[in-house]
Amino acid sequence: MDYMDYHYRILIDGKLCDPVKGGTMDVVNPANGKVIAKAPRCTAEDVDLAAKAAQKARKAWKNTYIGDRANYLMKLAELIRRDQDLLIPMETAQYGGPISKTSRFDIPSAAGELEFMAGIGRAVTGTTITANPSARGMTVLEPYGVVGLITPWNFPLVTAVSKLGPALITGNCCILKPASCAPLTVLKLAEYCVEAGIPEGVVNIVTGPGSEVGEAIVTHPLVRKTNFTGDSRVGKRIMELSAPMVKPVASELGGKNAMIVLDDAEIDAVVETATYSAFFNSGQNCGSPSRFYVQEGIYDEFIRRFVAAASKITVGDPMKPETMMGPLAYMACRDTAEKYIASAKAAGFRCLLGGERPNTPETKDGAYVMPTIFEVTDNKHELMQDEIFAPVVGVMKIKTPEEGVELVNDSRYGLCASVWTRDFRKGLLMIEDIETGTAWINQHLEIVPETPWGGCKESGWTKENSVLALSEYTYHHHIWVSLSEKPHTFWESMISLD
Ligand code: NDP
Repeated sequence: MDYMDYHYRILIDGKLCDPVKGGTMDVVNPANGKVIAKAPRCTAEDVDLAAKAAQKARKAWKNTYIGDRANYLMKLAELIRRDQDLLIPMETAQYGGPISKTSRFDIPSAAGELEFMAGIGRAVTGTTITANPSARGMTVLEPYGVVGLITPWNFPLVTAVSKLGPALITGNCCILKPASCAPLTVLKLAEYCVEAGIPEGVVNIVTGPGSEVGEAIVTHPLVRKTNFTGDSRVGKRIMELSAPMVKPVASELGGKNAMIVLDDAEIDAVVETATYSAFFNSGQNCGSPSRFYVQEGIYDEFIRRFVAAASKITVGDPMKPETMMGPLAYMACRDTAEKYIASAKAAGFRCLLGGERPNTPETKDGAYVMPTIFEVTDNKHELMQDEIFAPVVGVMKIKTPEEGVELVNDSRYGLCASVWTRDFRKGLLMIEDIETGTAWINQHLEIVPETPWGGCKESGWTKENSVLALSEYTYHHHIWVSLSEKPHTFWESMISLD
């Protein structure tokens, strides 16, 4: 399939179509700066049509047997697997994730997420409560109705289906908007929704700028909840827009994630995981560690081996199977990374590796930054406080485990952290004092559909994956049933019924 000549269309009310005003926007390959496709550029009018279509479909979808809803998800997963040879290079071309990653993670995981939700969604039930001897309460998990799903570019298809799966299985209709720089695989998903026979209006997919199309979704009166993954700054804006309507927002936001390495850590394991998790996908993973707090007894060896391992990362054309690190998602991401590199250098931090662009013919026009490691002495510096979302990390020496915990918590973010030690008791007690939504002992960046994912503090409060994800798409409808012929009231002997 030729990316450029292909006619990408949005999905509204079961029909693949062009935006009302017919606009398009360029999709650029960050590996070489070339335009690879024209994607539809929607406006608020398209969102309005989508919201009305979803509202119309809402009741019938909610009343569709959950096993049938699950079958639609399974069909979508099957179509993604069928077309993986198309989707894998498409994913790589639009945001630069190396093909070694998109083939082993993005596309299989997208299918896997849908299959997982199709299964686990059927096992979720409400509760019954013996309210008093002659009354029963029950909670029924109700879908919100129409939900807005707004997703980022760093795993375009996976982040989209991680929301679409639980939204659909719980009986919601939705408007899905992917990131503007990487919308192509989600636009293919629109075609799969039609092919899978998902009823009209249940899934609507629109593309266009977040400031216009995203905000139109968030503020549309028919959209009952927004489920957002992205930058904390944008998350705050969505919360502001939602507050006047008291509209709930599920938020998976930014992070400034940390690893604490204690003297008794297993050094081979920690170096391998540190290198992988910091630089996988060019550090553009919400869970990537970018702060390393390393105890003094192991510090020199860790630094030496971490730098040596990171210097062997192959950086280049993401389409080549041997490439481990491709470009950043677009040029502005590289500019941001370079701003922080300059600021760290100006602060006098020692640059142990990288700090520059690769110098090869194949990378000269792309958004590349080499794996970069600074030795840092000030945890308050922006290198250690801001989410850079790039392969740029800082390492600091610590004396005690307690100092490590204190430094990890000295952050406005709270997405994830890990502790590396052979002493599990110590590790667990440390983790319990660490303010993050997710934490590992002797692991980092291992995320599977079965385990919950999400943060606290300015990283948001929502859980994705696992059975907990389903609760973001339902509310508890409490229903009280009186079994007594004469219901109890406090006025029973005082009220005259005659
Ligand atoms: P952004 O927040 O810039 O964009 C995310 C989505 O929001 C895009 O679809 C974007 O549209 C849209 N958007 C932008 N502005 C608005 C607005 N005012 N109203 C409504 N929607 C809007 O994030 P990125 O795409 O740059 O992704 C990287 C960020 O995502 C990082 O901060 C990362 O940590 C976070 N992330 C968090 C995860 C987690 O689990 N906690 C997982 C993955 C990523 P458009 O593209 O058109 O601007």
